[in-house]
Amino acid sequence: MIIVSACLLGINCRWDGQNSLEKKLFKYLPDLIPVCPEQLGGLPTPRAQAQIAGGNGFDVLDGKTIVKNTLKDVTKEFLTGAQSVLRIAEIYKIRKAILKEGSPSCGVHRIHYNKSIINGMGVTAAILLQKGLIVVSTEDLE
Ligand code: SF4
Repeated sequence: MIIVSACLLGINCRWDGQNSLEKKLFKYLPDLIPVCPEQLGGLPTPRAQAQIAGGNGFDVLDGKTIVKNTLKDVTKEFLTGAQSVLRIAEIYKIRKAILKEGSPSCGVHRIHYNKSIINGMGVTAAILLQKGLIVVSTEDLE
């Protein structure tokens, strides 16, 4: 089984109510478990777009920085979502995740920051990597 960002399977869970369908993932069906950490953390859809306020997902896990949207601090929701995804991985003994590049939750190589893209991992990607899962983005797949 493989954890996958739900928006990559066509689920409209993105902050703007849209999805990021990647048809090349269909070849992994039915072994994919779709998750959206921001929804699992209790945030609504659509929702205000969030970003890590300097640093990366590891810094959020370490309490060195926060996640905020245009309205408020959403660090608690991002941490809850990341921990929920980790719990799912533990329950089903999942060792791999395919996540959406660029997201402050799911980004594997890059995250959005102040309308640009910077190197770094999102909060959920970071917690999964920290716990020993193989974490890749769709860009890493053939
Ligand atoms: Fe949800 Fe991650 Fe997709 Fe964002 S990138 S919509 S947090 S699954």
